[in-house]
Amino acid sequence: MFPYYRKWGVRCGLLALAVFAAAPVLAAGRPDLAFAALAKGTPHVADELIVQFHAGFGPAEQARALARIGASPADMIVAGGRRFDGKGDLVAVKLPRGLAVAAAMRNLEIESIVEFSEPNWIYQHLANSNDPFYTNGSLWGMYGDTSTPSNQFGSQAGDAATNNCGGVWVGIIDEGYMHTHEDLAANAGKNPGETGTAANGSNKETNGVDDDGNGLVDDVRGWDFVNNNNSVFDGLSDDHGTHVAGTIGGVGNNSKGVSGVCWSIKLMNAKFLGNNGGTTANAIKSVDYFTDLKTRHALNMIATSNSWGGGGFSQGLTDAIGRANTAGILFVAAAGNSNVDCDTSSSCYPAEYANANIIAVASLDSNGARSSFSNFGATTIDIGAPGRGVISTVPVRSRGRIVSGYASYSGTSMATPHVSGAAALYKQRNPEASASQVKSAIMNSALPTSSLNGKVATDGRLDVSKF
Ligand code: CA
Repeated sequence: MFPYYRKWGVRCGLLALAVFAAAPVLAAGRPDLAFAALAKGTPHVADELIVQFHAGFGPAEQARALARIGASPADMIVAGGRRFDGKGDLVAVKLPRGLAVAAAMRNLEIESIVEFSEPNWIYQHLANSNDPFYTNGSLWGMYGDTSTPSNQFGSQAGDAATNNCGGVWVGIIDEGYMHTHEDLAANAGKNPGETGTAANGSNKETNGVDDDGNGLVDDVRGWDFVNNNNSVFDGLSDDHGTHVAGTIGGVGNNSKGVSGVCWSIKLMNAKFLGNNGGTTANAIKSVDYFTDLKTRHALNMIATSNSWGGGGFSQGLTDAIGRANTAGILFVAAAGNSNVDCDTSSSCYPAEYANANIIAVASLDSNGARSSFSNFGATTIDIGAPGRGVISTVPVRSRGRIVSGYASYSGTSMATPHVSGAAALYKQRNPEASASQVKSAIMNSALPTSSLNGKVATDGRLDVSKF
C-alpha cells in the first residue's frame, strides 16, 4: 500500500476545483472544516454521510428525516442507548445517486433531529514498508545509552530494568495482526468475556454466541470491522498491524526475532484498515469497542495505538475519543508523514484533535534527526519516538504458507507503538495511575532533543528509563 501522502498528492488534483460557500455553523460539529477538507479532495466514501441524531428520536423519525433528501440509514455506528455521553444514535447513511456529500450535509442542517452530519473519511496507515536503506536494520528503537548495543536516540526500553507489562492491555486499532506469530502469541490477549466455558458447557470462544453481550459473536482476539467477523488476522495484508504489535509487545527473552517496549503484555485488536484503508465509521466503532470492553469488563486497558490518519475533521471521532477518555484510555496517534506543521495545516487527524487523552507522536531517525517525512507541531504534536528503520514482526509467505517473519518499516506509524508500549510499561509499574497521570509521566520524561525543539510540545523524545 502506498503511504497516504502520495495518494493525497494524486487526489488533490482531481477535486480541487470544487468550491463551497462558507457554512453556517449552527449545529455541533465543524462543518466548516469538513467543507474545506472536501474542497481539498480529502478521500471519503462518495455516497455516504455520518449523521449524529439527537437523543430521543427513533429509527422511524430518523428514516423520515433522511427520506427528505432521498437518503436511507445504512449502518448503526453507535446506538444511543449503548453510550454514556447522552447523545443519540450515530448512523452511517447512504446517499441517493447524484447527491454530493457537501450538498447532503447542507440539506440536513435544517433537520431539527440532526445534531450534525459529516463525511465518512477514509484513513490510511502511516508507514513505508521495506525501506531499502534499513532492511538490515537493527532494533535501535529499543536501545538506550547503556544497552548493548546502545543508541542514545532509542526509546531506552533496553535500559529498563524490567519490561514486564503483563497486567496491562493495549488495543491496536489498525489492520489485523498475526496473533499466532512466534514472537507475539504469548502476548496475544483474549477477551475474557468470550473465553472459558459457558453455562451450557460450550466453549465461549467458538460457540457462536455473543457471550459478553457486546453485539459481536466470539470476538476472542478482537473484531474485524472491515469484514464484520472475528478473524482479525487474514494474511499478508495485515503486515502493518502486525508490525505495530511487535513494537508494543514483541515477546522478550525468548531467543526469537525482536522484543517490544513491553516483553509481556496483553494485546487486543480492532481491525478497521483494509486494502483500501479504513472509514471514520469503523474507526469510531473500533474506539468504542475498547471503551466498552474496559467499561463493562474492567479490562486494565491503558491505551489504544493508532498508526493511521488522512481524513478531515470528524466530530463523531473526536466524540468517541472523548468517551475513551472518560473510560481512562489514552489514544496514542501518529502525527502523519507529510512533513507539515500540524498547528496550522488542519490535516493531521486524528493526531491533532484537542482531546486531552491523545498523545501525538512524531518520528525520529536513529541519528536523532526528526525524520524527513514526519509531521510536527509545537502545540498539536507531543513527543518524538523511533520511526525510521524499525524492525518488527510481520507475516511472510514461505513455501506457500503464511509464517512468522520480520521486516523493517518506516513512518510515524512505527514511532507511535513505542509510546503505546511506554504507556503500558508505566501503568504496570504504577497501577494506581490514571490515564492523565500516565500521559503526564510520558510527557515529563521526554529527553530534550534539538531536532524536536519547538517542533513538539515536549521538545523531546520518548525515554522510558525514567519511569
Ligand atoms: Ca462478543
